[in-house]
Amino acid sequence: MVLYPHFDINGQGHLTVGGLDTVKLAAEFGTPVNILDENYIRSQIRLYKACAAQYFGADALPLFASKALCCAEIYRIAADEGMGIDCVSPGELYIAGRVGFPAQRIYFHGNNKTDADLAMALDMGVGTFVVDNHEELSSLGELANARGMRARILLRITPGIDPHTHKAISTGGIDSKFGSAIGTGQAEQIVVSALNTPGIDLQGLHCHIGSQIFDAQPFVDAAEIMVAFMADMIRKHRAPLTELNLGGGLGVRYTEEQSTLDIDGTMKTIAAKVRELCRANEIEMPRVILEPGRSLVAAAGVTLYTVGSVKEIPGFKNYVSVDGGMADNPRYALYQSPYTALIANKADRPADFCATVAGRCCESGDLLGEGMLLQCPERGDILAMLVTGAYQHSMASNYNKLPRPPLVMIKDGEARVVVRRETYEDLMAYDVTDPVFSTR
Ligand SMILES: *Cc1c(COP(=O)(O)O)cnc(C)c1O
Repeated sequence: MVLYPHFDINGQGHLTVGGLDTVKLAAEFGTPVNILDENYIRSQIRLYKACAAQYFGADALPLFASKALCCAEIYRIAADEGMGIDCVSPGELYIAGRVGFPAQRIYFHGNNKTDADLAMALDMGVGTFVVDNHEELSSLGELANARGMRARILLRITPGIDPHTHKAISTGGIDSKFGSAIGTGQAEQIVVSALNTPGIDLQGLHCHIGSQIFDAQPFVDAAEIMVAFMADMIRKHRAPLTELNLGGGLGVRYTEEQSTLDIDGTMKTIAAKVRELCRANEIEMPRVILEPGRSLVAAAGVTLYTVGSVKEIPGFKNYVSVDGGMADNPRYALYQSPYTALIANKADRPADFCATVAGRCCESGDLLGEGMLLQCPERGDILAMLVTGAYQHSMASNYNKLPRPPLVMIKDGEARVVVRRETYEDLMAYDVTDPVFSTR
């Protein structure tokens, strides 16, 4: 086993995922390629669902934060498993709608939804809007009214918590671009506005404090602030708040040094704390919702690249360049996210070659990792990056006009393409060769 039970090394010394030889997968599907283990994703969904039902109650609904991995097939899997989803853009809503995902189980997020986005979501029958600001609140109210509807909403609140994670992925502080802060009085103002806006049905509160959180404490801290605020709003303004969404951010292990988050234990602790806080604040236990993204899909993934060059700069460092990089995975370039990499066709050999793994973009910052220990890499080897199921496919670009890699789903020893590789022709798809001039 390498990091997770579904990654292993076979008798030929090749890395396997879900029992399949990654060297064969690379030969069959080409590189770069993103592989996802469907059984792992389904087992994570079932774990969240079972824990939610056991600790939060029968009506608890964990949501998949679909920004972590958005494609039609993942929405089909979430629908099939009876999970809810959160969407943050009209594009995500559109794909969910196209695969027939039950709109009632969609939560629509985002700090700047346009009127067109709100109208689209209302017309699709989206179950819940997580409203970020006053402008959105009044637009949504008007659009819902015009349709003879009332929009079911949660308000996004910033509890003022620092979960000790990278600042680009920390979202719960008072100065966050998301939501309204309790500390400044703005959260109370938006609650009062929501109660007085026609077309709005305020049902609860939402917060999301950040990502890559490895213990229950930040969630418990957030719950403490949120439940106290909830009780305050119920008492002072008779706000009918019955739902508390504590966001996502449950941590994932990318390297040997990182710890593993105990999902069952964390959910149990959060539930016990919320129950205790509700008793102390004399309010009913709300419906508690979590919306993990990363922890459902990250560890399902492995990305395979082909090594092109190995450049040793004596006294400095060694570069191993692969046929992908920041275009298919910008996470290291953006946040210096640590990963585990290995040479898939030599996985049983000693990892004693210290490398900076570089991509093929014309950009010095195009790196996938530094200080990575690899098994004597050579041109033609297959380099595997583990735990790439989240925020990789969904963050990929066509920088340097590189076609995006395919997504291959494996299940019970079989592999199928669920998102095909882009072609050079796809790269031309939006270029207008015969422009129509506008008349003024
Ligand atoms: C990003 C995000 C999530 C999911 O975060 P993970 O770290 O992937 O679990 C959940 N809710 C909101 C509002 C988010 O922005």
